Amino acid sequence: MTRFRQTFRLVHLAAVAMVLVSTASSPASHEGRTAAAEVSQSNYVDLMDNWLYTHDDHNRGFGVHHNLARNNIQSLFNSYGWDVELHPFNYSGSTYYNVVATKLGTTSPDEVYIVGAHYDSVNNPGADDNASGVALILETARVLGQYDSDATIRLIAFDREEQGLVGSTAYAGDHQNDDIQAVLSCDMVAYSPDGEGGPHLRSLRGRATDQWARAGAARIRRHHPQLRRLDQPNRSRPPSTHAVSRRRR
Ligand SMILES: [Zn+2]
Repeated sequence: MTRFRQTFRLVHLAAVAMVLVSTASSPASHEGRTAAAEVSQSNYVDLMDNWLYTHDDHNRGFGVHHNLARNNIQSLFNSYGWDVELHPFNYSGSTYYNVVATKLGTTSPDEVYIVGAHYDSVNNPGADDNASGVALILETARVLGQYDSDATIRLIAFDREEQGLVGSTAYAGDHQNDDIQAVLSCDMVAYSPDGEGGPHLRSLRGRATDQWARAGAARIRRHHPQLRRLDQPNRSRPPSTHAVSRRRR
């Protein structure tokens, strides 16, 4: 039951993310609200359970499960109708890949909105950190794949973030001339500082890059007043281990 409630809130967060990328700075459009209503809790759970290697014997830090998760992310983005490319970068003498799904805008294709989440973990299954964020952007891809958008949307699953934001730094370095309007970073969206089933979720963490993101955070707070501190850590609560493995079922 607690898992259901927690997942239910996550699905609402995914819906808000969808409204955000659907509407930019304008009020939620009819299409945005329709898209948000299509977010599926069962799909979200299926992504976590069956596609992102979050079970006890899995390890998404390095190695086979990490690579299988990357391949699944790529094929899921493809199956939802997005253009997908692997963005390579070097880390410690090896090549790693961010998985980038793009939907080109119909009227303002040069304007880019990014929703990202990192798929590597700290040598564990990493449900909260950060398969929960990756499942959010995959569910966003599934729903928004059915809609056109004015601006370009990129959904990016970043790699090697646990070693110091390596993948996203490489991506930013290679896209300095892009007209990036805003970035929403979905990290540990399933993490509760109270433990499993607790009343608070830390929710969408990261930087509110502009008014667009701040407006979205305010919207989440309005609909889910039990959520705390959407854009900065709550220092009165214990810090995350940043390596939370899968919740027991
Ligand atoms: Zn993380």
